[in-house]
Amino acid sequence: MIYDVIIIGGGTAGLSAALYTLRGGLSTLLLEAEVHGGQIVVSPEVENYPALPKISGAAYAQQLLEQVEAVGLQIKYEAAKQIEPEGAVKTVTTTGGQYQARTLIWAVGVSPRRLHCPGEEKFLGRGVSFCATCDGALYRGQEVAVIGGGNTALEEALFLAGICSRVHLIHRRSEFRAEKALTERAAQESRIVAHMPAEVAEITGEKRLEELLLTTPAGEEELPVSAAFLAVGKIPANELLQPYVTLSEAGYLLVGEDCKTNIPGLFAAGDCREKPLRQLVTAAADGAVAASAAISYLRGA
Ligand code: NAP
Repeated sequence: MIYDVIIIGGGTAGLSAALYTLRGGLSTLLLEAEVHGGQIVVSPEVENYPALPKISGAAYAQQLLEQVEAVGLQIKYEAAKQIEPEGAVKTVTTTGGQYQARTLIWAVGVSPRRLHCPGEEKFLGRGVSFCATCDGALYRGQEVAVIGGGNTALEEALFLAGICSRVHLIHRRSEFRAEKALTERAAQESRIVAHMPAEVAEITGEKRLEELLLTTPAGEEELPVSAAFLAVGKIPANELLQPYVTLSEAGYLLVGEDCKTNIPGLFAAGDCREKPLRQLVTAAADGAVAASAAISYLRGA
């Protein structure tokens, strides 16, 4: 079968795109490598999506999935391994098979950035984590660290402050990048101790993470903790498209607000493209724009 559209990525952008392509009458296949919902699944609370004053990321993702399933979503949990986006019929080879469509919507999002310091790889899953919601409960009543100064780091620190005895928030600059409301909440939380400016030079331990070696303006500091939650940003997963579409220095697709790439019938949506604001609301908007562009393309408009 040749689909009208294959959407690669089942986060907010991809699922929103599917909502629009299905409602627009396009035969649609959505491919997701891991779990539907994308990054937001691990957010304890979403408070800035219009008309949803407070919802957990997991509940939001489930509601979105059900909304799209209700209009006929076909989803396969397979990772794309190769893309041939040129020509009238495009091919996607995955871990499970090969699929073809007249249009593609690339909505793969981003993955966690690494610190690249000694010990990071060794203690992955043994104290080093990228997700407080997933792993925080393992460290109940213990001292832990969060590294980063953006919204994710502050959210993770606030979540962990409800579980752990102390949360050391380590940031390389003297000012947080996170929005004011989060910064103020963190400042009021007595269990959060900020170390800034400070950088993690090394992660050490025997079988599990036991200590962080910090570099600060006052010199080196040893910080005993049971876990380190890394929240130092995200990197886009655009390697497969690199031969076809121009990427920014940081690896984002240089695709404008119309979500159209330089290749006819190939569209890009969500956090994987260069954009001024990466939020749920902008990912959802991208999904709608990319889907509408795919519908117009198929109509020859
Ligand atoms: P981010 O905003 O890019 O912040 C990454 C943080 O990590 C920055 O503070 C950065 O420091 C630091 N960092 C980067 N590389 C580092 C390194 N090698 N060593 C030490 N520190 C390093 O990433 P994010 O917090 O994951 O957020 C990503 C996007 O999602 C943002 O647009 C954010 O607004 C959005 N988001 C929104 C919400 C929400 O609205 N509720 C929640 C989560 C995420 P510098 O500040 O010095 O650059």
